[in-house]
Amino acid sequence: MDFTFNEDQLVIQENVRRFAEDKLLPEYQNNDNKHTFDPEMLKEMGELGLIGCELSERYGGLELGYVTAGLITAEISRADFNVAYVPLLAGLNGGIIQQFARPHLAEKWITKIIKGESLVAVALTEPGAGSDAANLQLKAERKGDVFVLDGEKTSISAAAQADIAIVFARTGSQEEKARGVSAFLVPLDHPNITRTHFDDIGESIVGRGSIFFDGVEVPAENMLGEEGLGFIQVMQGFDYSRALIGLQCLAAAEKSVEETWEYVREREAFGQKISKFEGVSFPLAEAETFLEAAKLLCYKTLWLRDQGKPHTAEAAMCKWWAPKVSFDIIHQCLLAHGHGGYSKDFPIQQRLRDVLGLQIGDGTAQIQKIIIAREKIGRDGVPY
Ligand SMILES: Cc1cc2nc3c(=O)[nH]c(=O)nc-3n(C[C@H](O)[C@H](O)[C@H](O)COP(=O)(O)OP(=O)(O)OC[C@H]3O[C@@H](n4cnc5c(N)ncnc54)[C@H](O)[C@@H]3O)c2cc1C
Repeated sequence: MDFTFNEDQLVIQENVRRFAEDKLLPEYQNNDNKHTFDPEMLKEMGELGLIGCELSERYGGLELGYVTAGLITAEISRADFNVAYVPLLAGLNGGIIQQFARPHLAEKWITKIIKGESLVAVALTEPGAGSDAANLQLKAERKGDVFVLDGEKTSISAAAQADIAIVFARTGSQEEKARGVSAFLVPLDHPNITRTHFDDIGESIVGRGSIFFDGVEVPAENMLGEEGLGFIQVMQGFDYSRALIGLQCLAAAEKSVEETWEYVREREAFGQKISKFEGVSFPLAEAETFLEAAKLLCYKTLWLRDQGKPHTAEAAMCKWWAPKVSFDIIHQCLLAHGHGGYSKDFPIQQRLRDVLGLQIGDGTAQIQKIIIAREKIGRDGVPY
């Protein structure tokens, strides 16, 4: 077994870390009250190849592979957890568009996404269908060569600032559940689309909100994959985002642990550096252990994907475990900073609020555990 990154990956890691520490880290806390990414920063990331690096060269990608994309996402997240949403959304949605969209639409949109000119969202959740996503109701009714979309998507990351979204809609009957769902590529500047922004406790600059569709005509050619198979085909992309989310969360925890080691080596109590107290250093040693194990799981999952091997169970493991490990570690780091950790002057409290969202987004722990059980014992051994 080879646990090392190759030469190219190490160079990329070093370059991205330098960029992220120079450009992203100083802005992380300033961005806590903003609701949109800086367009110039997105373009700079695009020029540096930091968005959609795993996507096809045909559309301006670099085809660097999934492990490398994970490495880049992690390096960005160490500096600014929220900016790491940009390569995450590009990788997940760009991969789906590349695989299922008509080539001219793929070309039009992926090139813009990669350059940082367009932000793409994924719109699955509805007010009445979150975990039970296949029960969604947003209607897409065929009228000639268009589909007319009516309904609400909610809890969508970057809802208010995305330029385009992959929207899951019901083209069949409600009774058909997943088999009656199709996916569409929908530009969000349509006059019959309205959007809201939620007042969340974290991830402010990404933002989450509802998207309302009121008789929105979408060309039939914008359908992704086959009619009625959108859910089944397109959802496979989530095996990818789950491993990236794992690394995104772990990177924020890793940065917090590094800062905390530094702090406890300096801070004194009872006449000693507090690092000398096992009550302080052992939780950090445990954090290092969890980080190492969880990162290996995420990179193994991406490696399996690079090899074209099945990785659905592993991806679900990444998704339920890594965000929780990350949250618990950052919580511990905050406590090790004493009263200072509770202050907004330190980034740790912001990381705690930011990473918490991804224990829910992209599917909760319970749903991931059902997926793992289903992979191990089969569909008839689980509730659905
Ligand atoms: C930060 C963030 C970002 C998000 N981004 C997006 C996005 O970009 N696009 C998008 O479409 N959605 C997004 N979501 C929505 C997210 O995917 C859903 O919130 C999530 O799938 C859970 O759905 P729900 O909120 O309706 O909870 P519910 O489905 O109502 O679940 C409530 C609780 O019940 C539990 N539960 C439900 N069913 C079961 C079961 N069978 N067994 C055991 N427990 C169960 C759940 O685990 C949860 O704890 C985001 C959410 C957050 C918080």
